Amino acid sequence: MIERALKDALRHESYYLLYQPQLDLGSGKVTGVEALLRVDETILGLISPAEFIPIAEESDLILKIGKWVFEECCRQILLWREEGIENLLVAINLSRRQLMDEGWGPFVEETIGRYGIDPSNIEFEITETTFMHSKKLGYQTITSLQEMGFKFSIDDFGTGYSSLANLKQFIVDKLKIDRSFVMDIVENESDRAIVKASIALAKALGLSTIAEGVETAEQQALLRELGCDEMQGYLFSRPVPAADIPELLR
Ligand code: C2E
Ligand code: CA
Ligand code: CA
Repeated sequence: MIERALKDALRHESYYLLYQPQLDLGSGKVTGVEALLRVDETILGLISPAEFIPIAEESDLILKIGKWVFEECCRQILLWREEGIENLLVAINLSRRQLMDEGWGPFVEETIGRYGIDPSNIEFEITETTFMHSKKLGYQTITSLQEMGFKFSIDDFGTGYSSLANLKQFIVDKLKIDRSFVMDIVENESDRAIVKASIALAKALGLSTIAEGVETAEQQALLRELGCDEMQGYLFSRPVPAADIPELLR
């Protein structure tokens, strides 16, 4: 039922994106936004992407949705540019199927060409598990996108099966520390130790770090103290419509 509704949503243009700001912990400036997918409430009720994305991922539907997301981000980057907003990094979530799709790289290249967008404005987020299980084809896609100038970050870092050898071989730009560690970072010593170690690992490999799910000022202060570079979370802002971003930047 959900799958059918997701297909209908594509036909009826019922998808939209919200954007959640990412901030530099040192300067407090907004450096980027993560694009997060939503479906119009009238289609499926209030169902979260954490529920419907896995269903879309069971078939090629995720490829169509992924293309829509990418193109919508390009369109939005142009609209922001018209408002004088440049150099805002837009982070886009990628699924494993997208990486394994030989058409993805060419689609992305054609689309940014059509919109006149600089690849350095876009960062792809892939989960640790996707990254580690990408196999040859996935790695080829990652490498060719990197050669075009796109950035990569590893999402949900710390929750998946992680091979340090892989991390070393495919140098991404950023580690995104999972919300589950950030959540209890103030109270739980083990979580704090994991975050600290993740930051140290990232630094040693020359990567930057961003903590997701930051909800309190205490968490923010501690992350800053531990040397984390950036943060994202409800403390500063929930995911918001594109029109709200200029104000948050100011
Ligand atoms: P994610 O990539 O880990 O995205 C972060 C999720 O954490 C988002 O949930 C965001 O709204 C939520 N979040 C951010 N800050 C906080 C906070 O301070 N506290 C709490 N409790 N939550 C916070 P959302 O938007 O429901 O997305 C869920 C997942 O769906 C995403 O997890 C991502 O895996 C997937 N997703 C969303 N959009 C897309 C997309 O366009 N493509 C793909 N492939 N996956 C997507
Ligand atoms: Ca993400
Ligand atoms: Ca995440």
